[in-house]
Order: sequence, then C-alpha cells, then structure tokens
Amino acid sequence: AFGVTDTKDWDLLRASLFKCNEGTLDIPLIINGERFYYNDTTSDKGGLGRSFFKQQNPANHEQVLANVTQANDNDISYAIESAKKAKKQWSETPFYDRAAVFLKAADLISTKYRYDMLAATMLGQGKNVYQAEIDCITELCDFFRFNVRYASELYASQPVKSTAGVWNTSEYRPLEGFVYAVTPFNFTAIAGNLVGAPMLMGNTVIWKPSQSATLSNYLLLTVLEEAGLPDGVLNFIPGDPIKVTDTLLADREFAALHFTGSTAVFKNLYGKIQTGVVNGKFRDYPRIVGETGGKNFHLIHNSANIPHAVLSTIRGAYEYQGQKCSATSRLYLPESKSKEFVSDFIGTLEQDNSKMSPVNTAASNIRGGDLHGFIGPVIHEQSYDKLAKVIEKAKNDPELEIVYGGQCDKSTGWFVGPTLIKTTNPKHEFMTQEFFGPLLTYYEYPDEDFSKICEIIDTTSEYGLTGSVFARNRSAIEVANSKLRYSAGNFYINDKSTGAVVAQQWFGGARMSGTNDKSGSGNILNRFVSIRNIKENF
Ligand code: GLU
Repeated sequence: AFGVTDTKDWDLLRASLFKCNEGTLDIPLIINGERFYYNDTTSDKGGLGRSFFKQQNPANHEQVLANVTQANDNDISYAIESAKKAKKQWSETPFYDRAAVFLKAADLISTKYRYDMLAATMLGQGKNVYQAEIDCITELCDFFRFNVRYASELYASQPVKSTAGVWNTSEYRPLEGFVYAVTPFNFTAIAGNLVGAPMLMGNTVIWKPSQSATLSNYLLLTVLEEAGLPDGVLNFIPGDPIKVTDTLLADREFAALHFTGSTAVFKNLYGKIQTGVVNGKFRDYPRIVGETGGKNFHLIHNSANIPHAVLSTIRGAYEYQGQKCSATSRLYLPESKSKEFVSDFIGTLEQDNSKMSPVNTAASNIRGGDLHGFIGPVIHEQSYDKLAKVIEKAKNDPELEIVYGGQCDKSTGWFVGPTLIKTTNPKHEFMTQEFFGPLLTYYEYPDEDFSKICEIIDTTSEYGLTGSVFARNRSAIEVANSKLRYSAGNFYINDKSTGAVVAQQWFGGARMSGTNDKSGSGNILNRFVSIRNIKENF
C-alpha cells in the first residue's frame, strides 16, 4: 500500500489534515498507562507544577498544533518506577505475544490510522505527502514487521554444538533494567524503531521524544496501546533533555541508550554513561546504540550517466529539506563534466520552480492543496536561524560562491530554498560540517585525480554515514569502493545517498556517525538482549 493515489485517499487525508488543523491538542505524559496533563493540578502530587511546550507547524508558525506537557522531577522518577515495575511481566510474556502487539500496530497504522499518522507527520514535521508516506507508514510498518521476523530467527538460533551427554542452549534474556530512548524529529519511523526494537526483545522503555515530533509520536503511542501494549512498558516523557537524561543516568538500573540525533548530544551522552560506569553507578555496562550525523558525499566520475546523477543528487540533497542524516551535502565533480552537471542541475531546479518555491508549496501543503510540493519548511526557528547564518557566511567567504538559491523566508514558516554552493577548497568547513538543511557544496577535481579525490573524501570529515559514487566505468567503481571502505556505512553505487529501505539496505555509519548497529537488520536486536548460555550434563 504505497502512495496516496486515488480520490478517496485524498479525501481521507484532507479530513485528517483538517482534524489536526482544527485546534491545539493537549498532549499528556503517559506513565504507567496514566495520562498527566500540564493543566491538571490534581495529578501533580508533589506540587512541582508542569510546564508545556508549544509544538508549532513549521510551515505556518502562527499555528500551534499541540501543547506538550513537560515532565517534572517527580514525573521522571515515576517513569523509572513504572518501567521497573512493568518489566517482570513483560519480559516473561512469550515472544509471540509481544510480537503480536507490533504486528497489530503495523496493521492499524497502515489502515485505520493511516491518514491521521500522515497528517500528524506532515503538519508537525513539515513533510510533503510522499516523504510522510515513506516514513510514518511504509518504513515504520517495515520496522515493526521485519523486527518480528529477525527476532524469531534470533530466538531460534542456538549453539552449533552439543556433545555426548551434554546439552547446550542459549537464552536471549532482555537487559536487566530499563532502556532510555531518545528519538529525533526527522523520522516518525525511527522513533518507532528506537522504542519498538527494545520492547520487542522484552525490555521496558522510557521515551523522550523530540519536541518537534510529539504530535505523530503521541499518536504512535496510542496506536501501540490499542494494539495491546501493557501499561508501563513504554513511558512517554517529553521534557527538558538534560533533566530527563541526568535523572535516568543517575539510576542503577539504566541498562541501555537507544539514540538518534545530533553528534554533539550523542558524544555528550556517551561521555556521561562512561563516567557513570567508572563511578560504579550502574549494575551493567549499559549498551550504547546511537546513530547521529553525516557529511554524506556524491562522487561523480567522468563516465557517469550525468542526467541520472543530477536527479539523484537533487533528491539526495533536498528531499525533506536535507534534514536526513543521510542527506547529500558534499559533491565532487570532474572538471570535464562539471559545467554540464551544474547547468542541468540548475535547469532541473528551475523547471520545477513552482514545486521548489519554498513559500508557495508549504503554505499550500497545510491547506490541503499541492501536497506533493517538493520543498517544505525546516523544522524550527533555531534551525532556520542557523542555516540563514551559514548562507550569509557563504556570501562573504572568498573560497565559496553561491551558484543557486540562498533565499530564506520566515514570514509564515521556516523556509530555506534549495542552495548550491561552489568551493575552491576541498577541505573547507562546508565540506566537513553537517548543516542539516538544503545546502549542498561542490568541488571540482581534475579528472585524472579520481583516486586522490577519494583519499580527500575519506579524510576530510569525521563522519562515516552514507556516500555514493556515480560511474559507468567499472574500474572507477572498484577504486571508489576500496578507497572509501570506511567513509560510509551505507555505500551506494549509482544511487543517491538517502533512502535506505528496511531489510534491504541495513542502515548506519561508523566513525562519529554512530555505533553502526544497523537499523533495519537483525543486528540491532542483539544489542537489547543479554545472552545466557546453559550447559546441562546428563
Ligand atoms: N534511513 C534514512 C535514509 O536512509 C535516514 C535516517 C536518518 O536521517 O537518520 O535516508
């Protein structure tokens, strides 16, 4: 069921968009299955008070979609207590019963709640209908369903050898303690997987969602409840990230971090957890599973199919406004093809100007008009301001030239147009730093330096997430393949750097991009079990 196509679909989607647009939703904390609202003093036993965060529509910042309750200190402690309490029963629930919750949730998401999920993701996270569909329906359901399949394979696997009179078995125990999931704004599916994978393996989870994705994430939680998830297995506590983190990491039973977000935050959490271990705070060595940023490359060889490479680069760099960890943000062009590539690139952008024009499209998105508009808003004001500053910098740097775009407009929403920048310095910070927006920087290399440019690509950024080579010449592909071996955990040949599909392209990068445990594969599930080997003599 891919793509909103027929008239009935559009009507249903419009109805859901309308529902989301109708007013401001109050979003509670959900702890132990109980709802706690910012404006409900009776449940605020300790009298600490609860603030709320306004989740705005990034395409129309006047519109507040949700007032999101923020957890206070007592709430955070209650979430810990609740996750611990629910643990025994959930971990002893047979795998097939746990799995049934996720299979049922996937069915509900792809049928009954399909349009509500789309609307919440489109409005809250600034996605067009295509980007929303591949995220909160397709990828999310794939995660739930494939994880069940991978888990059943894992549970079935046993030591390969038993000897005469000896029976060896393995037990895949959930981790002892609770899992802390910190989830990003850019994919509802990733949030689902970050909480879903540990729960499937019998763990209980405390979930700090991104403030900018609370609408869709809250809906997801209610779907999981309807699918049969018992109280306390997943505790939803939007709130101040430092306060939540510090309280959870002060608990002896903190067992794992499941994280997707910025590199800076992940490094910080990694350090805190290690300090906690050294200081004897935890019972176990907590598992740290994280996916962070990237400075993802497209390397074009002079044998490449240029029109294909151009379209792939436009999609890799600008879909969802470049706000994917995998988004293409540095481009290497051979001198002999650079002119052709750039003029085709700009021509394509201009041809589709109506869909590119930032303000038009996203404003009409929210009114249910052109739901396919290519470019939408960036997620929030902070991101807008940062990107606008970067663009200003590009205008004044002698090593940079804005070749296309550079427009920003925050009068109604946070819009940054697709921007192409040329640099004369392959080691410029624009080729090394992640900006998380629709900015792409390119460098022209002499055709004969293909091998050398691979070395530069490999050594100029701290990241190792995704990257692509475009070439028809097989030996060029081989050179790139071997020289860029550690430059990308997801390496593409003649395809864009984004769009990994669950179970097809296992996703994740090494170096400072993360722990490379590969979402969309069975590997990730291994991180949330602690194996016990049992030997029995007869
Ligand atoms: N898995 C997504 C892709 O391949 C990116 C995930 C992310 O942004 O973290 O495009």
